[in-house]
Amino acid sequence: MIIFGTSARTKTIGEGLFYCPNCQETRRYELKQARQFFSLYFIPLIPLGEAGRFVLCQTCGMAFQPDVLNMKPQEKPPDLAGLINTAKARLEGGYPVEYLVRDLTAAGLDREVAWATINAVVGVGRRTCPNCRLSYAATVTVCPECGHSLDG
Ligand SMILES: [Zn+2]
Ligand SMILES: [Zn+2]
Repeated sequence: MIIFGTSARTKTIGEGLFYCPNCQETRRYELKQARQFFSLYFIPLIPLGEAGRFVLCQTCGMAFQPDVLNMKPQEKPPDLAGLINTAKARLEGGYPVEYLVRDLTAAGLDREVAWATINAVVGVGRRTCPNCRLSYAATVTVCPECGHSLDG
C-alpha cells in the first residue's frame, strides 16, 4: 500500500489531521486526487475510490481510501459511557438534544447511533424552542437557553 513518487501524478485537494491506522496515532494527512494515468498505474496497489482520491499519511507515507478519515481510534474516550449514562438525566434537565448529539459524536459515537441512543433514553418526542431552534426532551417545557416556552 505504500506509494512511491506520487507527487508528480497527484494533486493535493485537502489536508488535516486524521487517525492513521498504520501509525495508530493522530497524524497529518493530505487528501490526494489521482489523475487518470496515475490511478491506472496504481490499481494493483491500492483500490482507489471512484473519484481517484486517497489519503496519504504524512508520517508513514501509507495511502488509504478516503473513508479512513471517519475512522476513530480503537479505544473509546473514557467519558463516552458517562455521557450515555447521564444522557436521560441531562436531557430531562433541559440539555438540548443537539448539544448532546454533538457531545456524543465528539466522544466517538456515530451520529446515527447518538440519535438512536437519545431516542432510546427519552423517546422520540421533542419540543423545539421557536427562538433558539434547539430541541428538547418532551418533558422539558421551557427553554433553559432563552426562557421561551417550548412548542409541543
Ligand atoms: Zn501513518
Ligand atoms: Zn430558546
